[in-house]
Amino acid sequence: MRILVLGAGFGGLELSTRLSEEFGEEVDVVLIDQGEGFVFGFSKLDVMFGRALPSSVVHPYHALAKPGLRFVQTTITAIDPANKCVETESGVFEGDIVVVALGADLDPAATPGLVEVGHEFYTVPGAFELREVLSRFEGGNVIVGVTSTPFKCPPAPSETALLMHDFLTERGIRHASRISLVMPLGVPIPPSPAASEALLVAFAARDIDWCPERIVRSLDPDRKVVVLNDGSEMAFDLFLGVPVHKAPAVVVESGMTVDGWIPVNPLTLETAFADVYAVGDVTSVGTPKAGVFAEGQASVVAEQIISRVRGGTADRTYDGHGTCYLEFGDDLVARVDVTFLSGEAPIGALEGPSRVIATDKGEFGTSRIRRWFDRTWTSGAPEPV
Ligand SMILES: Cc1cc2nc3c(=O)[nH]c(=O)nc-3n(C[C@H](O)[C@H](O)[C@H](O)COP(=O)(O)OP(=O)(O)OC[C@H]3O[C@@H](n4cnc5c(N)ncnc54)[C@H](O)[C@@H]3O)c2cc1C
Repeated sequence: MRILVLGAGFGGLELSTRLSEEFGEEVDVVLIDQGEGFVFGFSKLDVMFGRALPSSVVHPYHALAKPGLRFVQTTITAIDPANKCVETESGVFEGDIVVVALGADLDPAATPGLVEVGHEFYTVPGAFELREVLSRFEGGNVIVGVTSTPFKCPPAPSETALLMHDFLTERGIRHASRISLVMPLGVPIPPSPAASEALLVAFAARDIDWCPERIVRSLDPDRKVVVLNDGSEMAFDLFLGVPVHKAPAVVVESGMTVDGWIPVNPLTLETAFADVYAVGDVTSVGTPKAGVFAEGQASVVAEQIISRVRGGTADRTYDGHGTCYLEFGDDLVARVDVTFLSGEAPIGALEGPSRVIATDKGEFGTSRIRRWFDRTWTSGAPEPV
C-alpha cells in the first residue's frame, strides 16, 4: 500500500506523522513538497518584526526521519486524480490513496503596483525581506491591506497592525507615523464578536485606523496611493499587503477545483475522485484557511485511511473545530476557540489576551515541531543578541 501526500505544510505533516505512527514500515508514505523546509505562518510575523532570525524558523524537511515515510523534494507538475498518479520534476509517482494538501498559492503580481512599490508579508521571501525594509523605515503612512478574499489566517492583518504599533513605538517613530488597516470584513474576526470587540478597542487605544469592508485593488507607483474597491484613495509610505490567493495551478489544471478550490465532503474530506482526499487551504470545506483547521482535517483523513487499511469503518468525522492564537502586541496573546458547522453560525469564545496564553502559543509551535520533526525548538524565543 502506498499513500501519496502532496504538500508538506500543516496538513501534510500532520497526516504523514499520524500514518507513520500507526503503520511504521507497514505502509509506504511518500510526502512530496517543493520547499526546503516548513515555516509557521506566525513565524513570518516574528521574522519581519525582528523577533526571530530567519534561520531559526525554517524547519528543514531533510530532517524528517520517520518509519515508512519518504520525503521527496520536488515540484509536482501534474495530478491525475482518476488514476491516483502525479508527475513531478523527479519522475512519476503512483499511489493507492492520494491526499492533496498543497495549500493556497499567493499572487502578488495580480494586484497592480504591489510588486513595484508595495510589500507583501504572506510569502516566506516577502516576510523575510520586510525585516530589512522595516529596520530602515523612518516613519510615515503605513497601510496594512487585504487585496482579495478568501485569505489565510483572517486575524493576521489585525495582528500585523498591532505589532507594527509596538515596532514603531520601540523605535521612537510612532508619533511620526499613521497606521491604517484595510480589511474586506465588517469586523476583524466575524465568527468571534468578543475577539472583534477586543481588537476594535485595541485599535482605538493605539490610534490605528480601522477601514472595514474595503479591499485594495491597486497601488499607484507615481502618486504612492492605494486605490480601494470603492474608488477612494489612501496615501502610503509603506504598504504591507495580503496578496491574492488561489489554488496552485497544478491543482486547477487537474480538474479537481470548482469555483477555484477543491470541494470535499465536509465530514470525511473525500473529493469527487475515489481514494483521493484533500485537506487545508486548497479546499472549500467551509473553515477559514488556517493551519489549525488543516491539521484537524488531516487527522480525520488519517483515521479514515487507518480504518480502510485495517478493514474497519472510521467513526471520527471532521468537527470544524479550531483554536487560534491572536497577537495583541505588548507580548500579550489571546485565544479564540471556534467551531464551524455547516448551516450554523460559528461562535468563537475569546480568552485573554494574557502572557500565560502567549506561553501556550509558544508551546503550540514547539509541540508541532517535536511531533513532526522529532526535534526541540523554542517557538517565540527571543532573538539572540
Ligand atoms: C502571516 C501568517 C500568519 C499565520 N498565522 C497562523 C496562525 O497563527 N495559526 C494558524 O493556524 N494558521 C496561521 N496561518 C495560516 C497557515 O499558515 C496556513 O493556513 C496553513 O499553512 C495551511 O496549511 P496547508 O497544509 O493547507 O497548506 P500549506 O501549509 O501552505 O502547505 C502547502 C505545501 O504545498 C507545497 N506545494 C504547493 N504547490 C506545490 C507543487 N506544485 N509541488 C510541490 N509542492 C507544492 C508548498 O511548498 C507547501 O509547503 C498564517 C498564515 C500567514 C501567512
